[in-house]
Amino acid sequence: MDFALSEEQSAIFDMAHAFGQEHIAPHARAWEAEGTIPKDLWPKVGELGLAGIYVSEESGGTGLTRLDATLVFEALSMACPSVAAFLSIHNMCARMIDSYGSDEMKARVLPKALSMDTVLSYCLTEPGSGSDAAALKTRAERNNEGYTLNGTKAFISGGGYSDAYIAMVRTGEDGPKGISTVLVEDGTPGLSFGGLEDKMGWRSQPTRQVQFDDCKIGAENLLGEEGQGFRYAMAGLDGGRLNIAACSLGAAQAGLDATLAYMAERKAFGKSIDQFQALQFRLADMEIELQAARVFLRQAAWKLDTGTPDAPKFCAMAKKFVTETGSNVVDQCLQLHGGYGYLADYGIEKLVRDLRVHQILEGTNEIMRLIVARQMLAA
Ligand SMILES: Cc1cc2nc3c(=O)[nH]c(=O)nc-3n(C[C@H](O)[C@H](O)[C@H](O)COP(=O)(O)OP(=O)(O)OC[C@H]3O[C@@H](n4cnc5c(N)ncnc54)[C@H](O)[C@@H]3O)c2cc1C
Repeated sequence: MDFALSEEQSAIFDMAHAFGQEHIAPHARAWEAEGTIPKDLWPKVGELGLAGIYVSEESGGTGLTRLDATLVFEALSMACPSVAAFLSIHNMCARMIDSYGSDEMKARVLPKALSMDTVLSYCLTEPGSGSDAAALKTRAERNNEGYTLNGTKAFISGGGYSDAYIAMVRTGEDGPKGISTVLVEDGTPGLSFGGLEDKMGWRSQPTRQVQFDDCKIGAENLLGEEGQGFRYAMAGLDGGRLNIAACSLGAAQAGLDATLAYMAERKAFGKSIDQFQALQFRLADMEIELQAARVFLRQAAWKLDTGTPDAPKFCAMAKKFVTETGSNVVDQCLQLHGGYGYLADYGIEKLVRDLRVHQILEGTNEIMRLIVARQMLAA
């Protein structure tokens, strides 16, 4: 058993970290205020091969492992978890096209997605179904040319911003077996968007409803087979959960680093506050929690890479554990900054707000427990 990162993995982390510090961190607050991420960031990300991290090399992707991807998202989140998490969704979609799209679709969509001249969004949730995603109601009726879509997707990251949407829609019976996955390109007649959601965190990412009103797409926009869409959507989520956990980890590490530096400077009762043993113990606890979270996350990623049968359970456990640890740590960081932690200038309150949603999306942490408990009971 070897816990060390390889030289190549350390280089991947360093490259993503350097990119984040140069191109994202200095602007993260402004982008949050503007409620959008400038589109000209993405081709720079694409140039580094970070738009198709685990898209096969054969399809023009980077062909890295899930473990490598967690390193990328941990490193980028040290600059801004909102921007990093948005990139994770794009990667999830690109991988779905690579895994399930026809050769024609791959040739048509992937080159621009991998250069990030186009950005992809993932549409599963609906106003009436989130955790119970298999209850989705958006219908896709088959006709001679393709499909006509009717329905609404809710909470879509990149809604009204992205260039194409991977949508889970109902082509058949109720339940998971009646669900298919389709690609809907921006500009398709009948595709429209709700108003910008006003959110607690992830404020640089535009979130909107995505609406289909007699929205017609060609048959060539079906991914894989009809009726398999729920399976495709769930397969995408195992890796998505690792990435989201990595985003919590990186942001919390950045928060802890900033807190250590702050505590060395800040004086109270005649000494710097890092000299109070009660506070040193809290720092030690945060370090222990983050290191445990990192090892657990990387183990789950390794299981997904090696295809162990318990990989989905480990991805769920890691998502739950790491996102809660991350939130606990940044909350402590805020406390250790005193009143300054509450001010936007210090960058800590943004982390508290951004990380909170990681416990809710890619499957809530209650659903993560459900996955774990089901597997325990089945065994
Ligand atoms: C900022 C943001 C961005 C998002 N981006 C996207 C996106 O890009 N694409 C997308 O498809 N979705 C996206 N989502 C949606 C997200 O995945 C859902 O919000 C999430 O899955 C929860 O669904 P829900 O909000 O309908 O809550 P519900 O499913 O209604 O859950 C409400 C509460 O009940 C609990 N609960 C539900 N069922 C059970 C159960 N069986 N046992 C125990 N507890 C249960 C939940 O854990 C939760 O605490 C986003 C959400 C947010 C907030």
